[in-house]
Amino acid sequence: MSPGFSSAGFSRAVVTGGAGFLGSHLCERLLRRGIDVICLDNFLTGTPANVAHLVGEPRFRLIKCDVTDFVHVPGPVDLVLHLASAASPADYLRLPIETLKVGSLGTLHALGLAGEKGARFVLASTSEVYGDPRQHPQPEDYWGNVNPVGPRSVYDEAKRYAEALTTAYRMSRGTDTAIVRIFNTYGPRMRPDDGRAIPTFIRQALAGEPLSVTGDGSQTRSVCYVDDTIRGILALAESDAPGPVNIGGPLELPVVELAKTVIELSGSPGSIRHIDRPVDDPQVRRPDITLARELLGWEPRVPLREGLTRTIAWFRSRTGV
Ligand code: NAD
Repeated sequence: MSPGFSSAGFSRAVVTGGAGFLGSHLCERLLRRGIDVICLDNFLTGTPANVAHLVGEPRFRLIKCDVTDFVHVPGPVDLVLHLASAASPADYLRLPIETLKVGSLGTLHALGLAGEKGARFVLASTSEVYGDPRQHPQPEDYWGNVNPVGPRSVYDEAKRYAEALTTAYRMSRGTDTAIVRIFNTYGPRMRPDDGRAIPTFIRQALAGEPLSVTGDGSQTRSVCYVDDTIRGILALAESDAPGPVNIGGPLELPVVELAKTVIELSGSPGSIRHIDRPVDDPQVRRPDITLARELLGWEPRVPLREGLTRTIAWFRSRTGV
């Protein structure tokens, strides 16, 4: 194998949204595999601090750019990983037009780049395309139950459109595309104020505040530690499968149990406070990962308690609590 080539033959990857939570872990992992990385981000919900430790590496370039304007990268590129998009409900609800634009125009430009360079393209889609699901767990051939005019539609429909666009490029232009449907992922570098359940619980637990559980907390979520999710995304990138493929943790847990586990692992005196459920909040969510197992030999390895312990330690190191 020549230097700079991964086992799948990639030598130079573009990661849109590379300064975000998942994107920064992805950049790190690609570099570790010997792949050059160009990280494009406008820092709307991410931050250069997430990749500051990579900036000195000769194989890494960070470029501030809004992918809804244009995407231009000189030189060869053989992999485009399109992650740019607000992803937490708190972010996309305050950035509705930006979210729709990055899902549509941003995806168009990222696909254009992949087409121009003859690169493999991977769309970071989401379990939100299943909406409030009527089928449980959710296999990839379930079409979903999304309210097109509900508040969450700015994200759900942007991703559904992005999937349609990706499929059209594959069918009509012959672009080598793949779609990964990512389920709730947690880990270091999540923003404590991003509104998602786990960082919110950890922030509150470390501050000794009550943990705010929406509704009665019986609604379920299935979560996956970031290292496992990244391994899944790369396994899909390195395959020739078009997807969509679900990547997520199949262990389903009521949200209130998640809160109790955070209280226990953080050693917090915390109690639980119930607050209103957001509009169109899904009642259940669990990936069917049969396809990922069969196609990619992928399944999560990091148990929940271990992943939470690592995440709590990271939050603690940031807050000094
Ligand atoms: P994040 O908000 O931390 O990262 C998204 C990144 O995209 C940020 O750095 C942001 O600044 C950048 N960005 C947004 N708009 C942009 C634009 N117009 N041009 C350039 N950069 C732009 O979110 P994340 O959790 O890392 O999610 C990354 C991707 O994975 C998203 O596409 C999201 O939909 C998908 N996803 C994440 C999860 C999860 O649990 N984290 C679950 C499902 C899907």
